[in-house]
Amino acid sequence: MKRKEYNYLIVGAGLFGATFACMARRRGKRCLVIDKRPHPGGNTWCEEADGIIVHRYGPHIFHTNDEEVWEFVNRFATFTPYTLNTLACSKGKLYSLPFNLHTFYQMWGVTTPAEARAVIGRQRREAGIAAPRNLEEQALSLVGRDVYETLIKGYTEKQWGRPCRELPADIIKRLPVRFYFDNNYFNDRHQGIPDGGYNVLVHGLLEGIECRTRCNYLDDRAHFDALADRIVYTGPADEYFGFRLGRLEYRSLRFVHETLPVSCYQGNAIVNYTAADVPYTRIVEHKFFAADRAAALSLPHTVVTREYPAPFGPASEPYYPVGDAENRALHASYLELGRRLAPRTVFAGRLGSYQYYDMDRAVSAALKLSKECV
Ligand code: UDP
Repeated sequence: MKRKEYNYLIVGAGLFGATFACMARRRGKRCLVIDKRPHPGGNTWCEEADGIIVHRYGPHIFHTNDEEVWEFVNRFATFTPYTLNTLACSKGKLYSLPFNLHTFYQMWGVTTPAEARAVIGRQRREAGIAAPRNLEEQALSLVGRDVYETLIKGYTEKQWGRPCRELPADIIKRLPVRFYFDNNYFNDRHQGIPDGGYNVLVHGLLEGIECRTRCNYLDDRAHFDALADRIVYTGPADEYFGFRLGRLEYRSLRFVHETLPVSCYQGNAIVNYTAADVPYTRIVEHKFFAADRAAALSLPHTVVTREYPAPFGPASEPYYPVGDAENRALHASYLELGRRLAPRTVFAGRLGSYQYYDMDRAVSAALKLSKECV
């Protein structure tokens, strides 16, 4: 049999694909990475606007408890420690996130953990929830009705485009609930942003690897399949199979970026708009992510992004998988189809595995796959 040009074709140059390619190359494998977008890096890609690094596809803060992942990414970029403190705005009032004693103080005037627990306990009993079956019940039992109605219901229903009663409970489990004063959005030991933005990390991972952008695998599958022994496909599995078993559901987002002639617009990196009557879910002010925040704040202008939730369709990007039982079962059927019809192809990454991955999980999953198959 004629030797193929590459050992691995990696479809998708996001964090998963770039990490896998990096590891495979290190083990002496010949890799080609392709991506249909005009740039690598997937949703971590940053663009500079008027001297400010803009997280083009939504704010990304790298956070992890996984020492191997943290050590790995730090080989390619210098991470400046960053603690995300998100605010929520509802009906003109600001609240601290994630849900912690600051939030409960702002909501009810309670000043101790015992007082906060007493209020939430009362509201939970009134709601009469024993074992939560959906996101609404999960939220009511975690933080009570006031927090649910002020900070969760509107935001979640806008973001997911369906009632909280029809959403899986585990979406909300991503957010910590703390009965002490701590606005750090994440619990992880390591939290930071690469100096110079995520492109530094992505370029580091892809160094020495052939990467073709504006290159859509599905436009000429036979050509690309013939190039490599194995294929790591990080796009959606339903699209790969022409949707023959049905469509996996996602939610999409529309990002509206704007440069404003003020040095600071909202005083914080992220403000969530949790009420149903505001059409966007959050405003991001990118200069807060700069390694030198003081220098960024001294610029006379700022860049902000409004995020509008949107239905997923042919013209939009699949951002959030609707991970309910039906969709997960459909995804499993596609993987089964893949094992039968495309045995040289592995479906992986955030989209290929239909998972709501944080960046560290994308990296750790790629490291794991590279150990298993390279
Ligand atoms: N969430 C909420 N209110 C907020 C922020 C988050 O109800 O102000 C809920 C919402 O259901 C969301 C989930 O928590 O889908 C996870 O939020 P996270 O900030 O992790 O979302 P991401 O940053 O990934 O969009």
